[in-house]
Amino acid sequence: MGQWIANKGGALRLRHAMIAFAIAVVLSAVTILRPADIALWSLQSKLFSHEPSGEIVLVTDTSRDFDISIDNSNVALIGALEQLEKAGAKQVVLHTPLREGDVEQINQRLERSIALLGEKAVIARSISSEEPMGVSTERNAPRFEKTSKIVSSYVKQDFLRFVWWADPSQTVNATEYSSMWKVLVPSYEPDRAIYPDYSIAVRSIPEIDIYALASGDPETLKAVSSKRVIVAGLGRDDRMIKTPDGHAGLIGPAKLHALAAETAKAGSGQFFGSMITVPTTAVLLVLLILASKSNHQRRIGYGLLATGAVIVFFVAADLGLRVLLAEPAVLLILYAAQRATANWRRRHLYTDPRSQLSNFIALHRDLEAEDNLRDRVIVVAKVARLDAMFATLRGSEQGEYLRQIANRLALSNDRSGVYHDGGKYFAMVLKKADYPDLQGHLEGLRAIACQAIMISERALDVAITVGVDQSSDARASNRISSAIAAADQAREAYRPVFIISDFETDSEAWDYSLQSRLEAALSENRISIKLQPKVDMQTGLFVGAEALARWTDKERGEIPPNQFILQCERVGRLDELTKRVMNRSLSASCDLAAAGQPAKISVNVSAIQFVDNRIVELIEKSLLETGANPANIMIELTETARIENFARAREIMEQIGSLGIEFSIDDFGVGSGNLDALYHLPFRELKIDRMFANSVSTSAEARKIVGSLMSLSREMGISSVAEGIDNFATFEMLRDMGGDLAQGYCIARPQTLSLLQETLSLQRGDGILKKYKG
Ligand code: C2E
Ligand code: MG
Ligand code: MG
Repeated sequence: MGQWIANKGGALRLRHAMIAFAIAVVLSAVTILRPADIALWSLQSKLFSHEPSGEIVLVTDTSRDFDISIDNSNVALIGALEQLEKAGAKQVVLHTPLREGDVEQINQRLERSIALLGEKAVIARSISSEEPMGVSTERNAPRFEKTSKIVSSYVKQDFLRFVWWADPSQTVNATEYSSMWKVLVPSYEPDRAIYPDYSIAVRSIPEIDIYALASGDPETLKAVSSKRVIVAGLGRDDRMIKTPDGHAGLIGPAKLHALAAETAKAGSGQFFGSMITVPTTAVLLVLLILASKSNHQRRIGYGLLATGAVIVFFVAADLGLRVLLAEPAVLLILYAAQRATANWRRRHLYTDPRSQLSNFIALHRDLEAEDNLRDRVIVVAKVARLDAMFATLRGSEQGEYLRQIANRLALSNDRSGVYHDGGKYFAMVLKKADYPDLQGHLEGLRAIACQAIMISERALDVAITVGVDQSSDARASNRISSAIAAADQAREAYRPVFIISDFETDSEAWDYSLQSRLEAALSENRISIKLQPKVDMQTGLFVGAEALARWTDKERGEIPPNQFILQCERVGRLDELTKRVMNRSLSASCDLAAAGQPAKISVNVSAIQFVDNRIVELIEKSLLETGANPANIMIELTETARIENFARAREIMEQIGSLGIEFSIDDFGVGSGNLDALYHLPFRELKIDRMFANSVSTSAEARKIVGSLMSLSREMGISSVAEGIDNFATFEMLRDMGGDLAQGYCIARPQTLSLLQETLSLQRGDGILKKYKG
């Protein structure tokens, strides 16, 4: 059952994971989360800082910034190029406007010094397929571009002017131009975009001023020797780029390409898109849901998953990997949100606030979701007199009382399988196949559940009847109602566990013809009694007998009292029955007295008859008619849990008591007779239910219960009767425990008056038990 609930939860969790996954996939497809990704990337860019290789050096062509003539700048450039050639630079990328000046001689010199560099010289300018004009508008003078390879310095910026990736090339008018960064790392093979690694400190890329270089300063020459050099001056097309690392601020495209090249060299700058991160997260989540066997394990799993995501965030920042994390984060957040909503609903919509148990709406929901509803049994336990009990309890104690009942019904502290409707009904769902003897199982369960509950050092009664629906109706609501109806129809003493199934609906079990024959049996006084002896445990002497109603139907044979008494109650003939049994019992008492065998005859009367004076009149009349001695009569009050008004019941008992009749509380311990009743009402005898009395030899718990009931009776100055003892070993054990009276099959079965008299005539000084001795 716990397993079943767990599977249910599992299926729901998987569904939530799938929904979160589907939404995350859609969100990645429409790239709506890109701003979030960018925010995360910006954050990552600020976390770590690694030094660049130093292999790439920038020569800043500041001459272009001043308002000086093209010729003057070209002279500075020529000087720089000559020094680069002299110092043995590995490569010279010219990313500075190459324009013709007025002095032709200077133009020629520039042309020559570029040509002199040969293959080492590369010319870069903004060339893009994405720009509206296709090719950059600012062209170099063609004469300077003649001898060198042309590359593109174009990079795409996002709306915040950040650059997150640099393509390997640009194709314009069928001509492919390599990207500037790519030619700076010839060893870098892959033909795919690089994602600039901002953990590499852009500000540490060496920069030299063009005039310092042109002056031939030896330190400067050393700095460019066998380096790849970018001569960088801004053209009109070059846009400034924002760096997210928090240090460099705005940089020109040349520096961005230098960083991209450093990234390629460092082996970082790979991209892990949502096509990778979202499914990976989903798979991990699903595995976690499937693998975890308990809430605890699952919570640890969630913790690991969240920690993993944070670790990935930091590791990616450190390694300079561009990972799309917003989408998987949204997946996890969506999942968590759904779980939180479900939990909230479970807690509020589906939970009873007082008992903190799932309520009947939850029961309904769970049954609706159940595939094999036909194989389930719905058990409803009804707690008697809950309102009266709660009137004496504080709010927290009420919850505690309800939770303890649930623990008992669950047979453990895991109450998750027990539902509570907020009032007197509890419910559970069992698998039919697991309980071949359902009746027996539930009777046992009920006995356990009916133990008094200790709250704030006070023992509180629990009286429970159980209703079961094991029909094959597939509608959850029908089945719940039918189990509740069964619990309402169950009767403490006669039928504490009431099962409704397809084959044996109650009306079928008790058909109309049987009812009319019961009526006839009542009117023709054919309800008889059998007497079951009670003996004094210590002496073994016969002291009395309990009268048990018997009815034999011509067709159906012996009908168990449980059944016909229940039916009498339902059709309002209980008084009729009691009258017959009372008369027969009282005349049996007279017969015994006349034969010199005075004995106390106990008559069972249901507590529900103790609501008005009819029972008093009935007894008075019976005493008159039979002439029995009230001192020889005892009334066994059954079903005391159904007493709603103790004061009234007490009044009635006192009236009967004034006639000289004493009372016994029947079935004590299983909820039908309980402490409440014992406290409020005047009893002289306590009958320990056979559930416990008969289990003392096998159960230590039963021994403790029976022992304490015996001492309870002693302290109250009333006698205890252990009933339903069916073996002698149990008898001896109970006797050694100090029990007063005993009754049960091992002593004698319920028998006719004449048989009882015969037995009694055999009884001499050593008592009825002599047959067991020697
Ligand atoms: P109860 O008053 O607790 O009666 C004891 C029941 O236990 C009787 O069942 C009796 O036959 C049975 N019993 C006695 N010794 C043993 C034993 O060693 N082992 C086992 N397994 N059972 C034993 P019975 O006669 O079927 O009566 C069932 C219940 O019906 C009674 O329980 C009582 O609550 C009710 N009942 C019987 N007669 C009347 C009656 O005249 N009026 C009312 N209101 N209820 C009655
Ligand atoms: Mg009885
Ligand atoms: Mg009993």
